Amino acid sequence: MTWSTWQIAPFVTSVFFVLGVFTLYSVTFNWLTSGTHTWNISIDDDTLNSWYGVLYMLVFVFSIQTSVVGTSVSWEFMNFQLIAVTFCAYFLNIHVPYYSLLPIVLVYMVFNHSIGYWQSWGHAITLIMFFWALNKIRMKYRDGHNAFFQYMLVGIVFGGILWFWMVLKFHITWSTFWQEWIYLIIFEILLYMYISMLSQDSAVKIRLARLASHDTLTNTENFSAYTGDIEKLFDNNRKNNVPLTMMMFDIDHFKWVNDTYGHLAGDRVLQHVTKVVQAVLDENDTNISLYRTGGEEFNILFPNYKLEETERVVYQIFSAINHMEVKSDNNKINISISVGVSEINDDDKSPLDFYNRVDQNLYRSKRNGRMRITVD
Ligand code: GH3
Ligand code: MG
Ligand code: MG
Repeated sequence: MTWSTWQIAPFVTSVFFVLGVFTLYSVTFNWLTSGTHTWNISIDDDTLNSWYGVLYMLVFVFSIQTSVVGTSVSWEFMNFQLIAVTFCAYFLNIHVPYYSLLPIVLVYMVFNHSIGYWQSWGHAITLIMFFWALNKIRMKYRDGHNAFFQYMLVGIVFGGILWFWMVLKFHITWSTFWQEWIYLIIFEILLYMYISMLSQDSAVKIRLARLASHDTLTNTENFSAYTGDIEKLFDNNRKNNVPLTMMMFDIDHFKWVNDTYGHLAGDRVLQHVTKVVQAVLDENDTNISLYRTGGEEFNILFPNYKLEETERVVYQIFSAINHMEVKSDNNKINISISVGVSEINDDDKSPLDFYNRVDQNLYRSKRNGRMRITVD
């Protein structure tokens, strides 16, 4: 048996073709995103998804149309094209105004030798309206209860009109019209289900990535995130001379807090501390990051900060925590922190040398009576 004699209905092969196109998209997109992360290219996944998605669909639509262009059956891939439009307008997060589609549609009509037909103009205008309607319902109703029904309604109505233009232009039979319209409706349903499954998959990946880089108790970044970031920042300092300052703090007599008020109260204190510190950082500069590097030990990295430039933020954090009061049952818990601060220097052979110096400063704060800041 050869490929050409496979007894499979064209509808079945087209279903697998459409799903294959989207699977290939998803696999190559994942490859691209891991590439941008590895090579530190600063483009967010959403933007990449949108532009790569549009480009991918354009290349696909134009290249498959090449095989039928100029023939009497040049409408054969229209359902695929409508699925590509649906994907770009509804499932990608792009914000292109409908009129910017006009040049693409014009190029397509020239390419398809159909620019001289009034029916093709009717078809083109309907297509742009289809894109606009999909875009509108995506922005308004995508997360609502009836999202699927809105999506199907637009697909069914516009699908019918678009195929009607084909009847006018190519004089295709009514039975072909009905058949193609029903196929389109089935493809739209499959697309919806398939993309929903894929996005569920990526939602799980995002959750796992967050879990790997964040501490579950306090929601701050964890030691692993700290290690990755300090290495990048250390490299950046060596190569481009970008300054870097680190602050480290440790809660004083925290064991006593646990022993006196219980472990749960201790957890609440940790959560409260991180919330207060994060609020100070958000107010100052979102590039400064907080990490929980030990049980009751935290690091703060100030990228692009010289030592003296951190002074104000360091004091704000120090005084905010020392004035903080955590309520647990009927108790009011007051705590203090000891702090060490230092800036990276040329003698640091590795991120660890830098870390050790800040740690030594923190240790000196402890030894000198706690609740103090040592800068060196
Ligand atoms: P010092 O002022 O010298 O830092 O004294 P300390 O008591 O804070 O330091 P020590 O290292 O003796 O104790 C730290 C305590 O932090 C012991 C440990 O049980 C507690 N701890 C670590 N992680 C957690 C946590 O996630 N939750 C709670 N409740 N306690 C924790
Ligand atoms: Mg402590
Ligand atoms: Mg400690």
